[in-house]
Amino acid sequence: MSDCIFCKIVAGEIPSRKVYEDGELIAFHDVNPAAPVHFMIVPKEHIDSLEDCHARHEMLLGRILLLAPVLAKEQGLNDGFKTVINTGKGGGQIVFHLHVHVIGGGKLLHV
Ligand code: AMP
Ligand code: ZN
Repeated sequence: MSDCIFCKIVAGEIPSRKVYEDGELIAFHDVNPAAPVHFMIVPKEHIDSLEDCHARHEMLLGRILLLAPVLAKEQGLNDGFKTVINTGKGGGQIVFHLHVHVIGGGKLLHV
């Protein structure tokens, strides 16, 4: 998607503070962190949101969730972390390229 900010990050057209990358996924720090550690795990494939995932995305979604605790520990979150997926306008989604927030290291709002 040519006007998608996360696709531009995937393509290296916009800089990011990367924490992880492989063939399918990229993870980078949020520019507006909600806590001392706040990064996002993003599939390289453009998918608008969780509502646009299908059975063929099962493995991809599983990989994202399994990567979260690994990267969280690498970022020093040894005491746990919060994961957030904002979905659609009603879910507070701002960037319409699927991403999972991983947040921790401070006092977090409970949901
Ligand atoms: P949401 O779509 O509500 O899950 O939020 C999108 C998140 O992307 C927000 O927390 C933004 O701070 C973050 N964000 C927007 N642009 C960038 C960027 N260029 N690099 C890193 N994070 C970003
Ligand atoms: Zn995109």
